[in-house]
Amino acid sequence: MTLGKVPLANLRAKGDSLTVGIDVGGTKVAGAVMDSEGHIIKRVRQSTQKESPDALIRQIAEVVRCMVPAERLASVISIGIGLPGQVDVEAGTTYSPTNLGWPETSIIRAPLEEVLGRPVHIDNDLNTAVLAEWLQGVGMGCHNFCYMTIGTGLAVGMIIDGKLYRGAHSVAGELGHVVVDPYEEYCSCGIRGCLESLVSGPNILRRFHREAKQVETPEQEAPQGSEDIFALASKGHPIAAKVVRDTARYLAIGINTLAALLDPEVIAIGGGVSDAGAPLFEALDCHLLLWESAVVDKNVRVLPASLGSDAGVVGALIMAAMRHDKLE
Ligand SMILES: [Zn+2]
Repeated sequence: MTLGKVPLANLRAKGDSLTVGIDVGGTKVAGAVMDSEGHIIKRVRQSTQKESPDALIRQIAEVVRCMVPAERLASVISIGIGLPGQVDVEAGTTYSPTNLGWPETSIIRAPLEEVLGRPVHIDNDLNTAVLAEWLQGVGMGCHNFCYMTIGTGLAVGMIIDGKLYRGAHSVAGELGHVVVDPYEEYCSCGIRGCLESLVSGPNILRRFHREAKQVETPEQEAPQGSEDIFALASKGHPIAAKVVRDTARYLAIGINTLAALLDPEVIAIGGGVSDAGAPLFEALDCHLLLWESAVVDKNVRVLPASLGSDAGVVGALIMAAMRHDKLE
């Protein structure tokens, strides 16, 4: 893969310098090295060592050393790391990344800079993913762009007026906790009917089982995940089809809220739930038409994200390059 299709041209490093990107997920750590021409020249993927921050820091250092031989380490101009949870970009720390199961604030950047002797930059993995989709994916050429990820949770990364938007406390984009149906069940955050509590993968499955129980239909096919619900709906299963319609309706309400607030050119949808593809996006298009209003610009395009699970590591590379060039 080559980075630098258009906007990254000015981010390319000089001479034989290297840029490293690392995406830390709940299950996998993905690393990549980019040369000065914007080509990815090495990749590594490992299971996440998430027992403690120290174990993860050791693993990240190991991943860097595995991709870059000791004699080339001095050529690394910037290492970018995308991490789950809330990240303090300035302090180089993370707060309770819940899907890693850590208790408190963890210092990540300083010990890595000490052990590797190279500049390290960290950010939330949603922010790295939005950079990737904006500069290398479906958001290329946009000045205002949103990337919504729907998996076990739901959140939105935002580019506003050509700049990544974080908010005052680095938690902007929590669209998953905007209420779309106040009469629905309680969300993990303590209020009723949040978007995430209805359309995240586990909650699509939960609503299916609730509906199946209500009509007392014995469920032979026993879906295990949201992908099974979309597959059942495509085969004409009436309960699954209703759950998919409701999912699309709730998402359309959330997307309209986002479009009305920010007026982006494109809203990209990624994450595990979006892997359902056509059955989700066709239902969504129908509901977006129903919700279309004079307030929301009809030119806002809602599109599937284009980089898939690669968005994390590509975004970490972009973030590393941008921070090195002081562009972000
Ligand atoms: Zn909530």
